[in-house]
Amino acid sequence: MIVQLISLLAVNVIAFTQIFPYLKLRPISFGLPILASVNSHFTAVYSSLDLIQVELSQPEFPWIVLGSVLLIGAVAGRAFCGWVCPVGFIQDTITNLKGRLDFVTPRTHKSARKLKYLFLLGTLTISGTLGLALYLGIGADYKAALGVAASGPFIPISPDGTLFGVVPTLLGMARENFAAFLARPPTIQDVWAQLIRVPTLLALRILILVGFFAAAWKVPRFWCRYACPTGAMMAVFQKYSLAGMKRDPVKCTKCPHCEVKCPMQINILDLPWEKFNDPECILCMECVDACPHGSLSPKFP
Ligand code: SF4
Ligand code: SF4
Repeated sequence: MIVQLISLLAVNVIAFTQIFPYLKLRPISFGLPILASVNSHFTAVYSSLDLIQVELSQPEFPWIVLGSVLLIGAVAGRAFCGWVCPVGFIQDTITNLKGRLDFVTPRTHKSARKLKYLFLLGTLTISGTLGLALYLGIGADYKAALGVAASGPFIPISPDGTLFGVVPTLLGMARENFAAFLARPPTIQDVWAQLIRVPTLLALRILILVGFFAAAWKVPRFWCRYACPTGAMMAVFQKYSLAGMKRDPVKCTKCPHCEVKCPMQINILDLPWEKFNDPECILCMECVDACPHGSLSPKFP
């Protein structure tokens, strides 16, 4: 958790300019396989998938971002999900506050985890076809039809963009109007009149964010398991990555404390003991800490 907290602060280091305005910090256009929205006010780096979507809509081929994803994926697999991603940390904090890990039935878990691959496929299909159409000079209408989704179909609905972009903006507006609110408290009719004027996209974003928190409370790492397209992208690499886990079959009594503590609900005891590279494994090392016999450890390569 300490590493994750430091990562959260490092990724969102621009937030410190609000407290220390003399700090001259600016985001760098570098991608990491985490959720760090291009709409965030605070992020110092961006999500690789956001950059891929934005660059394809330019249209430019995202060589550098794809190269970095390939390199990170080949060496570290999904380790950035376990250690660096702010959204992963938020979910782990919620689970820690709850104090227990609830399990999803194996059947539901198996089917639901495919959803994130569908989101990834949908995102890349829309961005890829738009980029190609624009490159061929026939994509102007397509781009116009996509509207706000043109510069990234998943960017407007991703919960991190709402949490670190939309929510601070709304709070800033609320602070500016607070004095007027106190001088003349709104009536029920005023509140209703304002509510029905809320744009559909904004309402959808808030709904997704509320759903994200509720789901994280119910299921550990719900977003990472079932919805995150960045997690899906890195899961493909995790399978072949140099970084993995191993289980010593001599020390292991199949108790199974490790499986109970795994936030991604992986059936560790069914995986090869020499080295396992489950696509869902985020290399968080919770299983290592949970094993009373010290039978689990990271394996590289
Ligand atoms: S799966 Fe997505 S939200 Fe979860 S830790 Fe990885 S990048 Fe972050
Ligand atoms: S198998 Fe171990 S390292 Fe992988 S996600 Fe589960 S607890 Fe974390």
